[in-house]
Amino acid sequence: DQQLLCKYEEDLRKMVSETKELTKFGQVADYIPALAEADPDDVAVAIYDGRNTCFSEGNDEQLFTLQSISKVLTLALALIDHGEETVFAKVGMEPTGDPFNSISKLETQVPSKPLNPMINAGALAVTALIKGGSVDEKLTRILEFVRLLSGNSALTYNDKVARSEWESADLNRSLAYFLRQHGIIEGDVEKLLELYTKQCAIEVTCRDLAKIGYSLAYDGIHPDTKEPIMERDIARLVKTFMVTCGMYNASGEFAIRVGIPAKSGVSGGIIGAVPYRLGIGIYSPSLDDKGNSLVGMKLLEKLSKKYQLSIF
Ligand code: GLN
Repeated sequence: DQQLLCKYEEDLRKMVSETKELTKFGQVADYIPALAEADPDDVAVAIYDGRNTCFSEGNDEQLFTLQSISKVLTLALALIDHGEETVFAKVGMEPTGDPFNSISKLETQVPSKPLNPMINAGALAVTALIKGGSVDEKLTRILEFVRLLSGNSALTYNDKVARSEWESADLNRSLAYFLRQHGIIEGDVEKLLELYTKQCAIEVTCRDLAKIGYSLAYDGIHPDTKEPIMERDIARLVKTFMVTCGMYNASGEFAIRVGIPAKSGVSGGIIGAVPYRLGIGIYSPSLDDKGNSLVGMKLLEKLSKKYQLSIF
């Protein structure tokens, strides 16, 4: 065991040094102005197998926002709140092949419910279902849920990033108003946008992400106490969405090359959940043209090959 642990550290160090040059070929997201301040050369990775400490390499103290990774977690919470029937009355289960913020299929689909919960339109429909009497109450519920999944009770959201996104969220506003017109969501769209941008701005380190990944990998248990947090079927369901839609419109190639249930965010984070094996957390904000972390994808490919992590 001790040997295996040292090996993890050695392997991670080697993989980071082999991939970090890739940051030069990508770009930090800037459509949310606050995200443009990220250091494009940052790289951090962590893995957690539930037994000992979480192993990490690189800038593992760096906080970054969940962005689209939050969509996986709000989906799980909405399913806990309402069950499958209610949730999937509002959002579908099919990958799109379109960019994550695309509006085009909403117009041509009948009924106009978003195709899946990992694109922005679908995530907005899911967030609209989270139970609570006010934005604050709903946000607190989401935060408490993420704190449980990560075993980190200090997690919170970054107000500057949330505000920056809220002020520049014209496209997400359009999606949300469109969905309300078509009866997919109800209530105050501006309040929904406030909740959604705050959920996206929840801040974590790669180590927190590895622990959340571990939780999902093991049917939704607490990463430290191993107490169940959600029903096994919910964890299975969200992992399946991670496989089919987790890496935006690169999910097909990613399944072939890597084969790990994963979800990326435009902040440069990626979470991986290898069923009954490992949780993986990655941060590297230099993105490819589809919005996925360049180093992150390469690191996952290397990890998958090295430890034979593909679920296929
Ligand atoms: N908050 C971002 C948005 O809605 C999340 C998108 C992403 O990470 N792909 O545009």
